[in-house]
Amino acid sequence: MPELPEIEITARRLDAALQGAVVESALAPGMNVMKTFDPPLEALAGKEVRRVRRFGKMPVVELGELALLVHLMSAGRLRVFDKRASPKDRASRVLIRLEDGRELRLREFGTKQRAWAKLLAADSIAADEMVATLGPEAWPAPPHDTFAAAVDQPRHLHPLLRDQRAIAGIGRSWVDEILWEARLSPFKQGSDLDSEEVERLRKALHVLGGAIEHYEEEVGAELPDKLPMPLRIHRREGEPCPRCGTTIEAVFFAEHQTNYCPAEQTGGRVLKDRRLSRLLK
Ligand SMILES: [Zn+2]
Repeated sequence: MPELPEIEITARRLDAALQGAVVESALAPGMNVMKTFDPPLEALAGKEVRRVRRFGKMPVVELGELALLVHLMSAGRLRVFDKRASPKDRASRVLIRLEDGRELRLREFGTKQRAWAKLLAADSIAADEMVATLGPEAWPAPPHDTFAAAVDQPRHLHPLLRDQRAIAGIGRSWVDEILWEARLSPFKQGSDLDSEEVERLRKALHVLGGAIEHYEEEVGAELPDKLPMPLRIHRREGEPCPRCGTTIEAVFFAEHQTNYCPAEQTGGRVLKDRRLSRLLK
């Protein structure tokens, strides 16, 4: 599930690999993957890749005066391959074939087709609804006042921090790490944080930068499909907390789970799933 650190390293590696490459042709085997129709994908032919960057959790590939804004959702991957995809490759969603024989491929694993892309004028990316509505980037951490305003909402921190309109880049994995780092309960309300807690939470965003540094060391020029995510709390229920040794707990709801250290984050309370589902309503 790619979040800010994973998209950042993806954008950096793709930027290094693709700058200056020229598009031969582009097509979208994925049904409904393109959310825009004008300009058509064919307009990319002959365009040169200028750079690859990201907004929140969305990579953007700039080609000539156009830009491809991509949302990988939970199972999408964006990678460069030396050879073209087989027409039988059912994971292919968007294929951008380069004149040098390589191919930039948006793929998606699993049966659901959720990943999407928009082809836009490069100078109108910032105005696109998905970009314009993003909150401040979670990394580098915003200034105290900006962050304090972003989290000053009467909502639980777990969904609040994952809301891209509040703050951009955090998802289900890194929210657990950030809250653990800040020693805050996932169910504390954003608007109940005092100034010291806001600052602790803001400083905890450094785990995102730490993850990017980790990827810089661990990931070579070629991106693997599965990045070595340096998670210490998320999905570690049953293991000792790396800081205090207390057993990490999990609460489950809907399609995902939250992990936390009860000693340091919830005043010793172990949260029941039943309680959680009630709280989230
Ligand atoms: Zn602990």
